[in-house]
Amino acid sequence: MRLATFDDGRVGVVRGDEIVDVTDLVDPAPGHGGRSVMRTLIGRWETVRATITDLDGRTAVPLSSVRLRAPVPDPTKIVAAPVNYVDHMNEMSETAHVSSLGVFLKAPSSLLDPGGVIRLPYHDRRFDQEGELAFVIGRTARNVSVEDALDYVFGYTGLLDITMRGGEDRSVRKSFDTFTPLGPWLVTPDEAGAPDDVELACSVSGRLRQKANTSELIWGVARLLAYASSVMTLEAGDVVTTGTPAGVGPVEDGDTVELSLSGIGVLRVGVCASGATACPTNGRGAGPVPPPPPPR
Ligand code: MN
Repeated sequence: MRLATFDDGRVGVVRGDEIVDVTDLVDPAPGHGGRSVMRTLIGRWETVRATITDLDGRTAVPLSSVRLRAPVPDPTKIVAAPVNYVDHMNEMSETAHVSSLGVFLKAPSSLLDPGGVIRLPYHDRRFDQEGELAFVIGRTARNVSVEDALDYVFGYTGLLDITMRGGEDRSVRKSFDTFTPLGPWLVTPDEAGAPDDVELACSVSGRLRQKANTSELIWGVARLLAYASSVMTLEAGDVVTTGTPAGVGPVEDGDTVELSLSGIGVLRVGVCASGATACPTNGRGAGPVPPPPPPR
C-alpha cells in the first residue's frame, strides 16, 4: 500500500495517478491528539489496515490535484547513517564507515515536502545532494535484534540528506531548515519488496549523479535499525535514513533534484539561494574532502 500525507495534513491511499482520502477512517478528530494523522495511522495500523483495504465507493481524485507533504511531518527524530556505501567512503577520502561512526541525528524541523524548495543559507559554502533510501518505524523499538528488525519497519520512502560540506558537526551541516526532503509517500513492506534490492538514481537538473542498488549498503536496513535501537528508543513514525552512494555534488540556485527509488517512487525538489548570507562559522576547508564538482 502507498500512503501519502497531503494538503493540510490529510492522509490518503495512492493508487496509480490517484489518491483516496482516508483521513476520517484513521482519525475522526485530526490533530486532536497532538500528532499528525499519519502518526496516528501508524500507531493504530493493526486496526486501521483492515478498514482502509476496501476503498470501494470512496472518491479518488487525481494526485496532481493535491499537494503532497512529507509523509511523516512530525517524527520525534530523524536518524541517519553517516558513511554506508564503500564507493561514497572512497570519494570522500574517508577511512571510517558506519561500523565505527555509528549514527547521527538530523533535526525534524529540517523536513521538506515533495515539490518544495531547498533554501541554501550561505553564499560562501558548498551544499551537496545525497539521495537515500529511508524507512519509517512502525512501533516502539528498543534493543531489537537484527533477525526481528524488519518487523519494526512500517514503510519505505525517499530522503534527500542535503549537506553543507566542511568541518562543522554533522548535526549542524545537515539540519538547516528544508535540508531533509522526504517522500513522495510511504510504501508498506509487502508492496515495496526486499529493502536490500532497491535501485537508487539521483539527478541534478537532468544530469544523473548517483546510481546504486541498496544491496551495496555496508549496513542494510535490518542491521541499521537494530543498531539504532540499541542507542535510542525508536518511536512509531521516526525516520531512519540509510546513507548515500557515490556521486554527491554541489547544488545551486535554480537546480532541480530528483531521487528515484524502484518500487517506491520519485521525490523532486527545487533549490533556491536567494537571501543567502556569509557563513558565520569557520568550517570551510575542514572535514572530509568531497569529490570535485561533476560537469554541468
Ligand atoms: Mn547522508
